[in-house]
Amino acid sequence: MKITRVTSHVLQYDLPEELGYSQQFYAKRSAHLVEVETDAGITGWGECFGPGNVALANKGIVEKVIQPMILGDDALDRDVIWHKVYNLLRDHGQKGMPLQALSGVDIALWDIAGKVAGLPLHKLIGGAHRRQVQVYGYGMMLKRESVDEHVARFRAEAAEIMDKGFVAAKMKSGLGPKEDVRLCEAVAKGVDGRGKFMVDANHCYTTSDAFYVGRALDDLGAYWFEEPVAPEDLDGYRELRAGLKVNISGGEAEFNRWGWRQILENRGLDIAQPEVCAMGGVSEYLRVLTLCHAHFTPVINHVWGSAIAVAVNLQLLAAMPPLPGGLNPWEPMLEFDTTDNKFRDALLVEPLHIQEEVYENGGFVTIPDRPGLGVEPDRGFIAKYEVD
Ligand SMILES: [Mg+2]
Repeated sequence: MKITRVTSHVLQYDLPEELGYSQQFYAKRSAHLVEVETDAGITGWGECFGPGNVALANKGIVEKVIQPMILGDDALDRDVIWHKVYNLLRDHGQKGMPLQALSGVDIALWDIAGKVAGLPLHKLIGGAHRRQVQVYGYGMMLKRESVDEHVARFRAEAAEIMDKGFVAAKMKSGLGPKEDVRLCEAVAKGVDGRGKFMVDANHCYTTSDAFYVGRALDDLGAYWFEEPVAPEDLDGYRELRAGLKVNISGGEAEFNRWGWRQILENRGLDIAQPEVCAMGGVSEYLRVLTLCHAHFTPVINHVWGSAIAVAVNLQLLAAMPPLPGGLNPWEPMLEFDTTDNKFRDALLVEPLHIQEEVYENGGFVTIPDRPGLGVEPDRGFIAKYEVD
């Protein structure tokens, strides 16, 4: 089954309101879908992490760099293709955009493999360790408003996320350490003991500022403190993990097994958050998952993007072995963005209906069992939002 074409579709629309995290504000939602066609008429879909102009640059890598390397290759040889592309791109980037671009292609090849076998992705990996997975809601983004307005809004949004049935709520931080502690207190009040809450700093703190916020999180009983310091600051991660009670999480900005080996051996993470659409696709995710489990580091996938990204993560979460296992084992969660996202809610011919399931099933969503990723994008929708 030969690969006949690899196409990137970059989608974009103006958000109803600007949203922010500790690094920037953004006014557009974008998604980068990858379509791999074969001479058997079977098409696979994948997604590359990276918004806006990064998506447009990654489209160039997918179509102009990777496509010529793999045209005519057997679409079922996904591991052979992964290593061929990685080895040919090694001299030009072992992390970052080449890996983001490869991720979308690899995910599409796994979708094809599932469709050929007539099996969902979790069956190709080895079966479902769980039929349902619990879902946490993230929201509470930064806006151009005062600290007091942030505090009031974060408390209200945290309560709303719990009202919608999510098992936990995750907030952004980034106004400054003192202001951020006020935001954390507001979210703790909004959640009001109904579930866990987490804080995502998107690596905006120095180690000492991260200790300041982290001590407040210890007192408030937060579940995790995500990307407190820059991903390159391995010493900072290790010191924070040793010095704080709150779980230190991170890894969404790390790539492939060699990058992950380093951050796992550094012992700076309580919870690993690999991003399958960035770090090398399903093929590399499975290797990194094994590496995390070899270090007894639990994994909660980072999820960002369209319904394709959500679908692939649902499959991977189903196939994640319990570690260490037990009658009442530690369980992963699906990350779910509660802000406006048409590319998740309206992209598919048959939508995933996650919000409805979460509300009706006490915070759980059922793993789809259609072949491959189990989803089919609506081409009319793609045409309407595609930019180039
Ligand atoms: Mg994050």
